[in-house]
Amino acid sequence: MKDCLFCKIVSGEIPGNPVYEDDEIYMFNDISPQAPVHILAIPKRHIATSNDLKTGDEILIGKLFLKLKEVAQGIDKLKNGYRIVTNCGAESGQSVFHIHFHLLGGRPMKWPPG
Ligand code: 5GP
Ligand code: ZN
Repeated sequence: MKDCLFCKIVSGEIPGNPVYEDDEIYMFNDISPQAPVHILAIPKRHIATSNDLKTGDEILIGKLFLKLKEVAQGIDKLKNGYRIVTNCGAESGQSVFHIHFHLLGGRPMKWPPG
């Protein structure tokens, strides 16, 4: 999508530094990390929010989640645990409207999140 920041990162229009990439999935470090490890995982295809997921997307999102777990298991700082979170809509704190999953860890996490 033309004006989407994360689509521009996927296309290379904005330089990215992927920690993982395949045909459908892209993962990169958050520009403003909220924990020692803060990776964003996105489908390359533009989907704005979790409310925009459709029947058929379960394969893509399932693959993304499993790959994110594999990436997490390869990071020593996450060996004692990590959090995966997605925000949906303005009130949740979503600021980039291309669905993304935050992988956070490397410090004790509080619950509930603010
Ligand atoms: P949200 O608030 O939508 O759940 O998360 C958006 C995330 O994208 C934020 O954690 C923010 O720091 C990150 N972000 C915003 N702009 C950029 C950027 O240009 N590059 C990278 N790597 N992350 C970004
Ligand atoms: Zn997009």
